[in-house]
Parts: sequence; C-alpha cells; structure tokens
Amino acid sequence: MRQRAARDQQRLGSGAVTSPKDLESLQREITSLAKRQGDLEDVVLEVMERRESAQERVTELSDRVSAVQAKADDATARRDAATKELDEETATVTKERELVAGSVPADLLKLYDKLRVQQGGVGAARLYQRRCEGCRLELNITEVNDVKAASPDTVLRCENCRRILVRTAESGL
Ligand SMILES: [Zn+2]
Repeated sequence: MRQRAARDQQRLGSGAVTSPKDLESLQREITSLAKRQGDLEDVVLEVMERRESAQERVTELSDRVSAVQAKADDATARRDAATKELDEETATVTKERELVAGSVPADLLKLYDKLRVQQGGVGAARLYQRRCEGCRLELNITEVNDVKAASPDTVLRCENCRRILVRTAESGL
C-alpha cells in the first residue's frame, strides 16, 4: 500500500498526468490510501496493546502458579518431616514397650492385652487419690480398705471398669 501511494505520488509529481480529471482521481486515491494506512496503523497499535496486556496477564498467572507451587512444596516437606518424626517415635515407643513387656509376667501381660482391647486402648490405670484414672470413679471405703489390705504383689482391678489398678505413692491409701 505504501508502495502504491509512493508510485501515485511520483506520478503526480512527475507531471506525466496532465488531465485535471486524472489528477483529481490520483489525488483522491493518495488521500484514501493515506487514510487506510492510518486505520491499519491504529489496528496494529491496538493489537500490540492487547498483546502487551496479555503478556502481563501471563506473567501474573505464572507468578501465582509459582507461589502456589512453593506453598505445596513447603506443605509436602512439612508433611514428610512430620511423618518421619512419627515413624521414629513409633519405633522408639515400640522398642520401649517390648522392653517393659519383657519384664512383666506372661499371665499379667495377657490380662493387660485383653483389657486394653476391651477398654479402648487403656488396660491399666493409675490409682490417684482413691480415684481410678481409667474410668474416673472414686473407690468406695470398702474398696479402699481392700486395696490397703492387698499385698504389693497382688494385681488389683477397678471394680467399675475392670482395668488393672496401679498403686503409687499418690494413691491416697
Ligand atoms: Zn476404673
């Protein structure tokens, strides 16, 4: 289009076109070409602006994706660390339990395991100030007297929840 406008301009300037009608028509064509060129330049500008704004949006979304990815990576790392910690704790507790279980008489261990299953994971409870810490009930005076009279080797049971009662210095006896 530019070439055509330049050619028209050249013809106009060369003096080759002499008829007023041709001159007028040539001039009109030059004007029309100039207008179309202006319109096309506006379109190009608009496309460039839209491209720029799309590019900005792409950058913004990429940043957000990176931020979310970083958060996900962080959460995964913390989960893995927590899992590792729990695994180690489980291993330690399991080892400790094995050691303790090895020192408990077989029949008592069997009773404890049975009660543990029946009583939601707690087979033995501390007797604390005359109260069973398994079921939270206070022993009545008869029960307290029975506990007092029992030898240290006797395996005591809570009359209410049937858990093994463990006597300590704080049992309130
Ligand atoms: Zn109890």
